[in-house]
Amino acid sequence: MRYILLNPGPVSLSEGVRKAAVSSDLCHREPEYFQLQERVRLGLLDVYDCDPDEWTAVLLGGSGTTALEAMLSSLLPRDSSLLVIENGVYGERISRIAQIHGIDYQAVKHEWIGAIDSERVEAALAGRAFTHVAAVHHETTTGRLNDVNKLAELCERHGAGLMLDAVSSFGAEAIPFDSNALMGCAATANKCLHGIPGLCFAVCRISALEKAAEPPRTLYMHLPLWREKQDSQTTPFTPSVNGVLALDKALDELAGQGGWRARHARYTQLAGEVGRALSRHGVEPLLSPGESSCVLHAYLLPDGKSYDRIHDELKQRGFIIYAGQGSLVAEMFRISTMGDIGHYDMERLLAALHAVFSR
Ligand SMILES: *Cc1c(COP(=O)(O)O)cnc(C)c1O
Repeated sequence: MRYILLNPGPVSLSEGVRKAAVSSDLCHREPEYFQLQERVRLGLLDVYDCDPDEWTAVLLGGSGTTALEAMLSSLLPRDSSLLVIENGVYGERISRIAQIHGIDYQAVKHEWIGAIDSERVEAALAGRAFTHVAAVHHETTTGRLNDVNKLAELCERHGAGLMLDAVSSFGAEAIPFDSNALMGCAATANKCLHGIPGLCFAVCRISALEKAAEPPRTLYMHLPLWREKQDSQTTPFTPSVNGVLALDKALDELAGQGGWRARHARYTQLAGEVGRALSRHGVEPLLSPGESSCVLHAYLLPDGKSYDRIHDELKQRGFIIYAGQGSLVAEMFRISTMGDIGHYDMERLLAALHAVFSR
């Protein structure tokens, strides 16, 4: 059975991307690979019209967390001090990474379902001269889209650099690349860009990479090394060649479909259809309208229905949904509308939701 993945990555692939992933055997030390690598790096900058004189995209092997850990461990100089904004699993992960690498950090903690309290962030920035702030753009724990424009503005005012976990937003939500505070964002091939898992990347301000941690905190994840090698048409380690082939095609398809704004509109439309179908059965969203990303919405489990039962009944019909995390596991489920989901898939999904929730 072909499953439609409604979990927040990996996503259902288009036929084109699936074929591209295994389209050729490439040696990563040959010019054909380097042309591909360069095209994909520039293609990533093109998604948000980032000026290649100011920004660079660095590709590396691993899941989204690899890119996040690479960005934090590389872009934070040895004498930096970091303010972490937490309102979910992924914000807490940033703190954990900072702790593991011995980075001087402090966290502004929020309830998982809460919005970022900009007054508390501002007070923390006023209380101590942090060099950097790190936050999650789309907090996939709850589907909340954090107000990163506001954070960028606070960082500008306090002279701090901003680093974003944009793993589940890059390609579908607006990212404040025009703010002087933004130093970098970490993301992955297999969420909003519709590539395959195993390849991730960071889009970094070149001036920030030039002030990177010295000596390096890690061997594999030190971004200046990857950038230097990739800029000189080579690679420090064996890359995810198939991942790069797939991402090349996926970026091509994204551009052909109208870029990130068109993808944003598409996800918004699909999430709206799912939300309205669920609401007819009394299933309500966790967050108020306007608080969620277009990528994923969390819904409260209706009385008398367990997550496992809903999950299994939808799986029998070809759809994979996602459970809540941590303490929210008993209260909610999540549906993402990323990936290559066609008109026919949507019709079947709406029918499946009706069948499962009317029982
Ligand atoms: C998916 C995701 C990650 C990375 O998870 P991996 O399992 O390492 O790919 C990081 N942050 C956010 C916000 C995510 O949604």
